[in-house]
Amino acid sequence: MPNPPDTPHTVLEMHQVETRFGSHVVHDGVELEVRRSEIFAVIGGSGSGKSTLLREMILLQIPNAGRIKVLGVDLAHITDDAALALRQRFGVLFQQGGLFGALTVLENIGLPLREHRHLSDPEVDALAAKKLAEVGLDAAVASQYPSELSGGMLKRAALARALVLEPELLFLDEPTAGLDPQSAAGIDALVLKLRQQSGLSIVMITHDLDLLWQVTDRVAVLADGKVQAIGSMEELSKMDNPAIQPFFDGPRA
Ligand code: ADP
Ligand code: MG
Repeated sequence: MPNPPDTPHTVLEMHQVETRFGSHVVHDGVELEVRRSEIFAVIGGSGSGKSTLLREMILLQIPNAGRIKVLGVDLAHITDDAALALRQRFGVLFQQGGLFGALTVLENIGLPLREHRHLSDPEVDALAAKKLAEVGLDAAVASQYPSELSGGMLKRAALARALVLEPELLFLDEPTAGLDPQSAAGIDALVLKLRQQSGLSIVMITHDLDLLWQVTDRVAVLADGKVQAIGSMEELSKMDNPAIQPFFDGPRA
């Protein structure tokens, strides 16, 4: 998909990011850039700092040092107003989904519209219903409560909510974790479809090999506080780098 002439090619940058918890150094100079319309993943062992990195990308945490730019906005010293505006330009699918149990699926999806757009109730419902269909959920799901949905349906509903403000950038934290293989494959296909339809840029954390091989354009391998390598899964699998070998041992899923 060609870049519109007035949009920068890079949607997210991290330069020399350092993060410490007390004396524990989690990030020790993280470097990465995510290109517009690509599906980018961060992988790494447990405790390597993936979730912390995501929290920094979505303005939930501030690193001790380094520079982060999201959609052209420098996160250092960002004002509250600028942060509020920026948050409406990206969507986040949290690992736990984060839907409100007391609200129906349609009400959950419509919530960001109620908070950030001046729309009538019928307009909110219509847009929420459209998103529900876009993520492959039946219209009958609209009036159900989150507790009534399967894991795969919950992910789709949460994704619809993350997309309802038409974000330019989507963050996914372990989007297929805990799902059966069939539901996970459905999410893989949905992520690909979303990018094809709208040219959405997607950053995800995952260790799902199917998702990594079948969906991602490039993957960053986080280990020992640094990005040890970035490339397509094909490229990474051929690299002679001991830091990334653990992720490519054994048969391909
Ligand atoms: P990952 O998601 O790759 O498993 P995390 O980013 O969750 O890793 O955590 C990286 C390291 O930072 C871990 O050692 C974790 O215990 C530590 N850590 C994460 N958040 C905090 C926190 N709020 N306070 C102290 N230590 C933390
Ligand atoms: Mg984590």
